[in-house]
Amino acid sequence: MWRVAAVRLLRARGPGNPRSASGAAAAELRRRLENQLEDIRGAGTWKSERVIASRQGPHLRLAGGGAGILNFCANNYLGLSSHPEVIRAAVETLEKFGAGLSSVRFICGTQSIHKDLEEKIARFHQREDAILYASCFDANAGIFEALLTPEDAVLSDELNHASIIDGIRLCKANKYRYKHMDMQDLEAKLQDAQKHRLRLVATDGAFSMDGDIAPLREICQLAQKYDALVFIDECHATGFLGPNGRGTDELLGVMDKVTIINSTLGKALGGAAGGYTTGPKPLIDLLRQRSRPYLFSNSLPPAVVGCASKALDLLMESNAIAQSMAAKTQRFRSKMTAAGFTISGKDHPICPVMLGDARLATVMAEDMLNRGIYVIGFSYPVVPKGKARIRVQISAVHSDEDIDRCVEAFIEVGQKHGALP
Ligand code: PLP
Repeated sequence: MWRVAAVRLLRARGPGNPRSASGAAAAELRRRLENQLEDIRGAGTWKSERVIASRQGPHLRLAGGGAGILNFCANNYLGLSSHPEVIRAAVETLEKFGAGLSSVRFICGTQSIHKDLEEKIARFHQREDAILYASCFDANAGIFEALLTPEDAVLSDELNHASIIDGIRLCKANKYRYKHMDMQDLEAKLQDAQKHRLRLVATDGAFSMDGDIAPLREICQLAQKYDALVFIDECHATGFLGPNGRGTDELLGVMDKVTIINSTLGKALGGAAGGYTTGPKPLIDLLRQRSRPYLFSNSLPPAVVGCASKALDLLMESNAIAQSMAAKTQRFRSKMTAAGFTISGKDHPICPVMLGDARLATVMAEDMLNRGIYVIGFSYPVVPKGKARIRVQISAVHSDEDIDRCVEAFIEVGQKHGALP
C-alpha cells in the first residue's frame, strides 16, 4: 500500500522537482520569508550575484555571454588566485593528500601539510605559532570567547569587520566600541577600562569599505600607556602592505608591538579559503583546546592548504609581486584624482570612488559594466547614508593598459551622469 502511495507521490512531483513541506507552519514560514525578501527588494538593498564562467583574474568571462570583462572587484590583490604555480601546488597536494579529511583536526584531521602551513604562517609574520581555521570569519568568531573572561575588556573600532563584531558578541568580556580610528575616544575608553583585568584593543589593519589604514603606531602607543594588548585583522593587508608584504604592522613599523594577528588565505594568499590566528605560542595552544570553530569544524582541504602554502613561498622568495601592486595602485589613484574624482583612503589597493548618491553609484557601476569594466557600487546600509561609492580594487596582475582603460571608462561614465564637470 505504501509503495503505491510513494509511486503516486513521485509521479505527481516528478523526479527532478523540489520537495516542499506542507501544513500551516510551512505556509506561514513561506509567507514570512517572502515578505522579508520583498522588504529587502523594496529597501533597494538586494544583493544579486553575477555568475563568472572563467577563473578568477583581471579578465573574466561572465556566464551568459560577456567575455573579456576587466575585473576590478576581487580581493585577488596579488593575482595569485589563478597563478600557475599555485594551481599546480593545489593539484599535487590534492593527489598526494586526498580531497579532504572527513574529520576535525584533533580527531584525525591533521596532516603534515597543516603543520607545515602553520609553521610557515608563523614564520611569515615573525610570530611564535599559528593555527588554521576554515575561514578568517571562524578565526574571528573563535578567538575572543577563548581568550577573554568577564574580568577582561575588549575595545573595538566601530567599523570593524562583521566577523570581529560577531566574535566579540560571543565573549563575556566588557565591551567598548570606539569611534572609527579616533585616538582620543580610544584613550578615553582605555582609561575607563583600567578597572578590568586585561584589555585588548581590536582593529582591522585596513578597512575594506574605505581603503583606510588603522593608525597602528598610535594604537600601540596607547596600548603601551594603558597596558593593553593589540589584535589586528589583516585580511586586507597580508601579502602586500609593508616593504615585504607582511602587513599593516610591518608598514607602520610595529611588528613587535602587535600581539595577535588574524588573517585570511582567501584573498591575497591564493584566494581559495581558510583563515588563521598567529601570535604567542600559549595563545595558539589554548585556541587548539578551546576555540569552538576550530574544535567543531572540518580540517582545511589539502588542495586549499597547497594553494596557500605555495602563495606564501612565492611571497617569501621575493617582494616583487607586492611592490608591483603598489605601483599599479598609485597609477589608478593619481589618474582618477587628476580627473576630478575623490578616492577615499591612501596607498591601498582598495580605491573607493566617492559619489555620495546611492542611485548614482548603482547606475554608474552598471554603465561601467556596459563598457566591459566590472566594479561594484556600495550604498547604505553597507556604508553610511550619503556616502555611496564604487569600490575599485587593484591587483598586481592588472596591466597599466587595464588601469588606464578603467580610468577612461570612469571619466566617460562620470561625465555622462554628472559626477564630473
Ligand atoms: N575580516 C575582514 C576584514 C574581511 O574583509 C573578511 C572577508 O570579507 C573576513 C574577516 C572574513 O574572511 P574569510 O573570507 O576568510 O572568512
